[in-house]
Amino acid sequence: MDVRAMTKNELAEVIERNKEHPDPALISGAAAVRDKYYGRRIFVRGLIEFTNYCKNNCLYCGIRCANRRISRYRLTRAEILSCVQRGMELGLNTFVLQGGEDIYYSDDVLCDIVFSIKEYSPECAVTLSVGERSYESYKRLREAGADRYLLRHETADKVHYEKLHPSEMSFDNRLRCLYDLRSLGYQVGAGFMVGSPYQSSETLAEDLLFLKELEPHMVGIGPFISQTDTPFGDMPNGTLELTLTMLALVRLMLPETLLPATTALGTIDRKGREKGFDAGANVVMPNLSPSERRADYALYDNKLCTGAEAAESIEMLRGLIERAGYTMDMGRGDSLVKTFDS
Ligand code: SAH
Repeated sequence: MDVRAMTKNELAEVIERNKEHPDPALISGAAAVRDKYYGRRIFVRGLIEFTNYCKNNCLYCGIRCANRRISRYRLTRAEILSCVQRGMELGLNTFVLQGGEDIYYSDDVLCDIVFSIKEYSPECAVTLSVGERSYESYKRLREAGADRYLLRHETADKVHYEKLHPSEMSFDNRLRCLYDLRSLGYQVGAGFMVGSPYQSSETLAEDLLFLKELEPHMVGIGPFISQTDTPFGDMPNGTLELTLTMLALVRLMLPETLLPATTALGTIDRKGREKGFDAGANVVMPNLSPSERRADYALYDNKLCTGAEAAESIEMLRGLIERAGYTMDMGRGDSLVKTFDS
């Protein structure tokens, strides 16, 4: 099955056929492609959720600005650096700073944080995931030392995008951000939720075609999980089966991309991450945020943040990876996808 040669209709048919029962040949075929390009190494990144303030109001997200029922926090530069230091002591070499779109972190403040991390540890890779900003802002952050940027496109279908976001947010701007990031020489991560409200096999096929065109270095995919205090609080969650099908199809579409088995996948199924590896995933991002803050970064209900999901339990994570038949790799884990140099 040559996924890269398929039309939108053909992809939608494959998705439709595999959405409840992923074909074992599709799953093992994707795992074989991952083995061929990356081997059986699972890369580990330390995730620091440094602010849950957000000016946006995405309908699915628990940290949306209209949610008055969470307690908001932001970490100082010193607190972020101490998370990095703890991660380094555990052996990690790559850190993901993720947060809501919090205007407190101006370019000056964020550049200073990135610069300090790189000063402390010049060899490590710094990934930012702080939403939509201007070209100038991305440029300054890149110059301050940021290596990678995660910005899920959420859906490649404009009409669908407008059902998931308030009218102040723009699909075109989100795509503009991704292309700007790529042209600035970042390793770029796009991605989407599986099973988000109003999604269809056609919109998912569109996601695959968009990824083929963008050719991101990473693709973050996880099931949509409802969060009680959002407008989508009563919507059904995405399923394990469709998420595995989409992971496998992304792996076949982009053999050289990095593909995380996300926390959301581990949240909907006790063995979700291991099943993700077996469908072609090869990254995990355990949580390095201060433990007393983790519950407040509540993008969705019941989000995992203990056990193998917590960076301090790195040996538990190693056990999980090894029992599943893989090895844990704590290096930088650069993507095989080539980067544009600005
Ligand atoms: N503000 C940053 C980070 C957002 S949170 C940004 O805009 O990129 C990271 C990701 O969590 C989002 O991109 C979204 O895909 C996912 N997410 C948010 N709410 C979710 C939910 N209810 N279920 C599953 N994933 C969710």
